[in-house]
Amino acid sequence: MTSSATPRTITILGATGSIGTQTLDVLSRTPDLYRLHFLTCNTRVDDLADQVRRYRPYGVAIRDQAAWQRFRSLCPDFTGPVLCGEEGLCEAAADAANDVVISAMVGFSGVVPTMAAVEAGHVIGLANKETLVSAGALFTAAVTKHGATLLAIDSEHSAIAQCIIGERRSDISRFIITASGGPFRTTPTEAFSTITPAMALRHPNWSMGAKITIDSATLMNKGFEVIEARWLFDIAASCVDVVIHPQSIIHSMVEFVDGSVKAQMGMPTMLVPIQYALTYPQRAALDVPPMDLAAIGQLTFERPDYDRFPCLRIAYDVLRAEGSAACVANAANEVAVAAFLAQRLPFTHIPALIEQTLNNMEHVPYPSLADVVAIDAEARARASSLLTAMSHTA
Ligand code: NAD
Ligand code: MG
Repeated sequence: MTSSATPRTITILGATGSIGTQTLDVLSRTPDLYRLHFLTCNTRVDDLADQVRRYRPYGVAIRDQAAWQRFRSLCPDFTGPVLCGEEGLCEAAADAANDVVISAMVGFSGVVPTMAAVEAGHVIGLANKETLVSAGALFTAAVTKHGATLLAIDSEHSAIAQCIIGERRSDISRFIITASGGPFRTTPTEAFSTITPAMALRHPNWSMGAKITIDSATLMNKGFEVIEARWLFDIAASCVDVVIHPQSIIHSMVEFVDGSVKAQMGMPTMLVPIQYALTYPQRAALDVPPMDLAAIGQLTFERPDYDRFPCLRIAYDVLRAEGSAACVANAANEVAVAAFLAQRLPFTHIPALIEQTLNNMEHVPYPSLADVVAIDAEARARASSLLTAMSHTA
């Protein structure tokens, strides 16, 4: 992108979420450089209507039918297309006018619309890591086939992408993904049974949507990021390590064959990786708090504790198992997280529910997209009935 370029046309899948609203914040700082095409949401049409009035996109797509019907009464003067359902999201994602599609829906719901953007050959700013967890092999194959581009928005993967610029692939020996450790980094095992949703929703360094915040507390988010790295950068699981770094200043590191390690650093704000995906391969000025290392004082590191945080181990296991395993783990995790937030499952039972679901599902070595959609649905159903059984025995 250059300053004299025509504005880039941007569609945001999941505009009303944490990443979606931060993307709108970035775009609104230099409105001449961008044109908003579609904004999409699931049910939060009041927020979407506010966004429409404020940012004036060309069109909207709303997943939920009742919310879609309500949108008209909220924005009676809106003359652009108002698309509905997953088909509507896919139409918005695939629209030929898109230059960049920001994939910021949460969980498996992003898989089919993001694939529509890939099949249209678009540049995709990918926040929705669950797409690569559930269908990484399919996505990377489709990206190659359709000439699409995946640019990471996840801060760790944005860091890695920045560290490998100009480097030969064969010179890379290891990725070191940093993790804050979440709110329970120092909580003793005995106290894990007292963890409530309110405690788990209090992340020390980042303000994010509820689902990823719980995933950060179990370290499943970090496990998913290992899987995401495997697919985004075509690297073996054995070459992706995780280190706990509570200050969240180093966003990740890349080690090279000569022992040299590059780190990408900055204050913990998603505005930087979001903007980088929008301006890639260039940078643009961004008004964020400067990094004051002397004020921060110390950057510290710890090994992850796989006993207290079994979800991280499960993620490595399903990555090694390949095929449908990670899709099943993702679906079971979504059920477990929703149940934990609804106070129907203790925090300590989240990994158990995922493992039991994995044990109850047949392994499919090379699932198609239709298979992945069916496997996700079946895994959710299994996880839900296991959950009911668990609550009867609890
Ligand atoms: P969020 O819950 O704040 O927002 C989710 C968005 O997706 C909303 O716009 C919602 O309307 C939409 N959505 C939810 N379910 C949907 C469905 N079934 N159909 C259609 N739309 C649906 O989530 P978030 O924190 O912004 O996270 C979005 C994605 O980005 C996740 O995959 C997350 O892992 C990833 N991510 C988030 C952050 C962060 O700082 N929030 C950082 C890195 C990666
Ligand atoms: Mg991350």
